[in-house]
Amino acid sequence: MENQIAQSVDLQIPRPATDEEILRAHDPVYIHRLQNGELSAKEVRRVGLPWSPEIVRRARYSVGGTIATCRAALAEGVAVNLAGGTHHAFGDHGQGYCWLNDSVIAARSIQAAGLVEKILIIDCDVHQGNGTAAIVKDDSSIFTFSIHGKNNFPFQKEKSDLDIALENGADDKVYLKALANGLQTSIDAASADLSIYLAGADPYEDDRFGRLNLTKKGLAERDRLVFRSCLEAGLPIAVTMAGGYARSVQDTVDIHFQTVLAALDFKNGKDCI
Ligand SMILES: [Zn+2]
Repeated sequence: MENQIAQSVDLQIPRPATDEEILRAHDPVYIHRLQNGELSAKEVRRVGLPWSPEIVRRARYSVGGTIATCRAALAEGVAVNLAGGTHHAFGDHGQGYCWLNDSVIAARSIQAAGLVEKILIIDCDVHQGNGTAAIVKDDSSIFTFSIHGKNNFPFQKEKSDLDIALENGADDKVYLKALANGLQTSIDAASADLSIYLAGADPYEDDRFGRLNLTKKGLAERDRLVFRSCLEAGLPIAVTMAGGYARSVQDTVDIHFQTVLAALDFKNGKDCI
């Protein structure tokens, strides 16, 4: 709103995801224990965030945001969740700052509502979408594409439908070429009706955990490549944030903000490359 790209009417507060929605991706025993603070210290350590009733509530809102974003994307072509992308959450445990897997919960909730049959998850966070891949490994209605750093967390990778693992230091040129190939392959293979795009800020050259070497300009190009590829294929796009750990917080903010700007350009039919 400060940048006058949105009015208050464009910004909506989601409702929290319900148990019924969450259980489409998660084990009921895990969700009961998460909700009631019954996870062991080891399980909480694996997530890396302190457990509290508020943090569980926050996770439910974040998932609700991704569900609402999918619905808005179906109605308007492009929509953005200013949260979400918690792709390290598995069906029965959390990991890597992720309690609940919003992508899978949202995908299955939109399917259950009869709005779409097939969904493509495009995961451009620099870490592999291991939880997502594991939850949907036997679900042919959700295609998972992850492009990530080969030597990054998680050190034990799962198998997505398409994985592209990049060497340390991969730059804009290497990344964008690999991404273009991956998008073409996954869009063709998925025959999807909706895409969920995890626009992680952590492939950035000054990210503390990223190990890749993308510039802000390269990341903007990445966003536009994803938007253009999906929209040309007639695929609506629901964007989520995922990770970002730049040494300067402002850099992470800038990278997420330029994703929002690109989404707006494409929504308005102004691809300004
Ligand atoms: Zn990440």
